[in-house]
Amino acid sequence: MTVAPTLPGAVTVRAPAKVNLELRVGPRRPDGFHDLATVFQAVSLHDEISVTRWDDWQVVPAGTYAALIPTDGDNLAVRAAKLIAEQWDVDEKLSIRIDKDIPVAGGMAGGSADAAAALLACDQLWGLGLMRDELAELAATLGSDVPFPLTGGNAMGSGRGDQLAPVLARGTFHWVFAISDVGLSTPAVYAECDRLRDLTGSATDVPEAQVSAELMGALRSGDPVALGAALHNDLEPAAFSLRPDLEELRDAGVEFGALGGIVSGSGPTVAFLTESHEASLDLSVSLAAADLCRDLRRAKGPVHGAHVVSAPRT
Ligand code: ATP
Repeated sequence: MTVAPTLPGAVTVRAPAKVNLELRVGPRRPDGFHDLATVFQAVSLHDEISVTRWDDWQVVPAGTYAALIPTDGDNLAVRAAKLIAEQWDVDEKLSIRIDKDIPVAGGMAGGSADAAAALLACDQLWGLGLMRDELAELAATLGSDVPFPLTGGNAMGSGRGDQLAPVLARGTFHWVFAISDVGLSTPAVYAECDRLRDLTGSATDVPEAQVSAELMGALRSGDPVALGAALHNDLEPAAFSLRPDLEELRDAGVEFGALGGIVSGSGPTVAFLTESHEASLDLSVSLAAADLCRDLRRAKGPVHGAHVVSAPRT
């Protein structure tokens, strides 16, 4: 693990990963995109972004997955910071330290969490005083998964997943995330989803994307057994087609006692819901012994969205 010191005068923001409890993918639109209906839950795997004034743009990677992120202008945190600087005429450059604990290219929206965190950190550093809805608007221009980590909790996403509405929910849920060695590209998974729908002739009667009453009911009641049964991801057949080992992994986790197992977003992370904290420990041990994935992480959800954890005194 790379350790990098936080520079004096830095603003540090923490942002969570997400899991899609349900992901419904509507018919392919003429522009090639799909309307989505999804329910996000923010979970307790976090990245931390620290921004400080610097004489040039730089990314300082740190943490568990430091080696896997871009350090140039393609980094989503840099894109977010440059966007906010441009819109508010701030003529400054930043050093951005990214403490990366969210798996990269894992379907947990880690890059989006970093972008959301960078927006909030820049707002604080430059004293812009932006409202949450102004930040959310900027977030949506950066990517459809960027608004959610600002909000956190549980939320329903529609459109391209970026139009959020709150969801009534109670309770805390305990997860085990099985992390893969190699990422899956989101566009490749959507392309495979389209190919499979064309192949099976189902492309012409794909229903409009809509979240199920079962899932909403399970969240309202806080019942993990009902939530486990209601987990659903329309991208799962495509992820399994590209990576058959993921189906084996999902089946193993369910056999070892998970209440439900699901590919997170476009994968390849597989998320397992368990009954309790203790059950998540037991499942981790069984999955580790089966040696079907690179890494296992436990987390709970829902958790709060992006928030400032330290800032210089003014
Ligand atoms: P989503 O769930 O939104 O589809 P993901 O979790 O599958 O996203 P990310 O971890 O966000 O994937 O990374 C996707 C790609 O974005 C990576 O391959 C990486 O090259 C690029 N990227 C740019 N900035 C970042 C960042 N700060 N952290 C991680 N990846 C980044």
